Amino acid sequence: MNQARHFDTIIVGAGFAGLYMLHRLREMGHHAIVLEKGSGVGGTWYWNRYPGARCDIASMEYSYQFDHELQQEWNWSEKYSPQPEILRYANHVADRFDLRPYIQFDSTVVAAVFDDDTNQWSVTTEDKTGVPSIASSTYLISATGCLSSPNKPQIKGTDQFGGRIYHTGEWPHEPVDFGNLNVAVIGTGSSAIQAIPVIAKQAANLTVFQRTANYAVPARNSELSVKQRNQIKADYPALREKAASTRNGHLTEPNSQSAMAVSEHERMEQFETRWSNGGLAFMGSFNDLTINEASNQTAADFVRNKIRETVDDPITAQQLLPSTMIGCKRLCVDSGYYETYNRPNVALVDINETPIESVEPNGIKIKGEVIELDAIVFATGYDAMTGSLIKLNVAGRNGVTLTERWRAGPETYMGIAMHEFPNFFTITGPGSPSVLTNMLPTIEQHVNLLSKLLLHAKQIKKTRIEAKLDAQTAWVQHVNAIASKTIYPGCNSWYLGANVPGKPRVFMPYVGFPDYVKRCEEMVAANFQGFEFTA
Ligand code: NAP
Repeated sequence: MNQARHFDTIIVGAGFAGLYMLHRLREMGHHAIVLEKGSGVGGTWYWNRYPGARCDIASMEYSYQFDHELQQEWNWSEKYSPQPEILRYANHVADRFDLRPYIQFDSTVVAAVFDDDTNQWSVTTEDKTGVPSIASSTYLISATGCLSSPNKPQIKGTDQFGGRIYHTGEWPHEPVDFGNLNVAVIGTGSSAIQAIPVIAKQAANLTVFQRTANYAVPARNSELSVKQRNQIKADYPALREKAASTRNGHLTEPNSQSAMAVSEHERMEQFETRWSNGGLAFMGSFNDLTINEASNQTAADFVRNKIRETVDDPITAQQLLPSTMIGCKRLCVDSGYYETYNRPNVALVDINETPIESVEPNGIKIKGEVIELDAIVFATGYDAMTGSLIKLNVAGRNGVTLTERWRAGPETYMGIAMHEFPNFFTITGPGSPSVLTNMLPTIEQHVNLLSKLLLHAKQIKKTRIEAKLDAQTAWVQHVNAIASKTIYPGCNSWYLGANVPGKPRVFMPYVGFPDYVKRCEEMVAANFQGFEFTA
């Protein structure tokens, strides 16, 4: 074990949140370090290298805005950039701001313990071979991301499978060639919907195992011309400001009308326009798709008709029709997903009708018969929002753990701090808008907020910051009250933890992005009301 090193702040994770937090803290003169499990920067974009991986928010918006030069000099090649380009961007940022020397790679945080007497966090990491080392700090900031702890279903016999097994969230760094192979994809969420059309083109045969049919809208991705990029760059601050005023923090051009307030003809016209423009802006067709079930139904019916029109085989089309409300689970954005089912080498298995009996050495067994396979791709998502935080094994005052305190669901103050866990903070934690928004600006907003919080403590000469219990309780109640007015609690989504067996069913993100920012500003103006500063 190495001699413990001491820092002002330890940040966990070198994704977009960790990189910017490190940059801000270095500007503030903090002695800070990032502990990162991977061998490189990029977080989710470091791990998610599956075929077809790309962002579903326009790259000109899914990018940092804290540095004018950075956003002027970087050139995104496509509207929705592919994973390799996003990863190059993360690396560019790390180099441009000289962050790499302050990042310790191949270091998995396995425990973080708060010492009540010294006000210090003691953080244990393990390297790739399991060798532990300890570092200590005054502040501990988790930048572990909301979707970074893979959900790996326990299907009987998986360990006996003789072929190759992949998870979209832990994709190999070497190229994977599915040429002439019989491949299965389990899951039909955003990752699967991006990967399936690409894998189908390579594989001899592809069998998709679907538990819940999902809604996907076409991306209509395209190359970005120099002219298009320059037009945006010419007035980037105005574009960013406009995006910040929207419900999701990106430009969805929301319609201010209810779907119920217009004629059938106008409604269809609006849906058709958005469908042909592509992307998540579809959910902005009307202002009440996430709060009014009747309005939601009109959008859901529209997409279901598109699926019927696109998929040739009526039985497959029927199986692909989602029955939940649209947007209740995160809407998927695709490039040729439904069309892929018209290929002769692609088959769909609805596991509600024909459950997976077992994984066998040579394939997957359903109805007593084995579908022969060379590779299985688990596109089964994540233990979202809380999984990576729990895995840090954080112990706060009197040894209390997050696992204990979050048994009935996560409880935070404003999604950034927790009572009984002094000097521990989360970027885009549960109880903040995070996954319901464009993550990059949301990350920046949290990093800026935490920077102000630490600066405030310094100014008032305090080194111990803790969320008050009453403030936290009120915030949790507010988050739940707002969510209950929406359609979100109405389906089994990862927003609710419903995808992970045994996870408490609680709606984790905060619905209401510009409102949240306003509340944060009010909290800052009130000298960080809801926090206690001591020591
Ligand atoms: P996901 O949305 O949770 O989808 C996982 C899929 O696996 C679902 O279809 C799920 O079915 C299925 N599944 C889970 N456990 C299963 C089991 N035991 N047996 C059979 N099927 C099972 O995960 P994801 O596709 O990785 O996406 C997660 C989130 O990451 C997205 O919602 C999005 O926010 C983000 N993401 C974004 C992009 C992008 O920017 N373009 C791309 C990928 C992911 P159920 O629906 O029944 O649970």
